[in-house]
Amino acid sequence: MLNRSILTQRRGIGSRIAFVVCGPSGAGKNSVIERVMQILPGLAFSVSYTTRTRRVGEIAGRDYHYISCQEFDHLVAQKELIEHVTYLGDRYGTSFPQVMEVFGQGKDVILNIDVNGARLLRNRESTDFSSVYVFLTTSSLDILKERLQERGTENETQINARLELSIQEMKALPSFDYLVLNDTFNIAVDELRSIIIAERARIRIA
Ligand code: 5GP
Repeated sequence: MLNRSILTQRRGIGSRIAFVVCGPSGAGKNSVIERVMQILPGLAFSVSYTTRTRRVGEIAGRDYHYISCQEFDHLVAQKELIEHVTYLGDRYGTSFPQVMEVFGQGKDVILNIDVNGARLLRNRESTDFSSVYVFLTTSSLDILKERLQERGTENETQINARLELSIQEMKALPSFDYLVLNDTFNIAVDELRSIIIAERARIRIA
């Protein structure tokens, strides 16, 4: 006989899951996330707040909400951010109301955050939602460097700082649930998509 409580837990889309995607700068997190969102229904991206300057090609409200340090302090004081960090001198944070709004719409949320933010989320005792931690990177630092150089949004010093940091970030790998290697874009997309499908089918007993 089918267990009724398990059946009600297994809701598929809208299971209130936050898919937390982390990984070094240049690994292609944004492109992979964007593609998966096009092909898999029921997902929304949480647009972070940042104090960093907008890059050419970025759109306010789509890529980030660009705010001043004072505005960021205000959000922190109002406890509007579920997690926030300083990353290479700029501040980044995830909006709690925005994440809850996505769940309210019956969708799951995708976060693109750094490893320190993921650690803060993991340590946050909460029954609001469950989180799945995905580390997305390339199989070598050389590929990362090439991608950052091709992107052309950082100078050589900034690229080296990001590469240095990614070596540190790799140390957090054991605390993640999944590793996606983005050497080949279509394979990485397929893997992230499969992870989301599988996690939506996972039996979660509250
Ligand atoms: P970028 O400046 O390249 O857009 O982002 C730098 C780093 O900040 C990336 O690793 C990105 O994942 C991370 N990041 C973006 N938004 C957030 C956020 O809201 N919280 C945290 N902790 N990290 C974020």
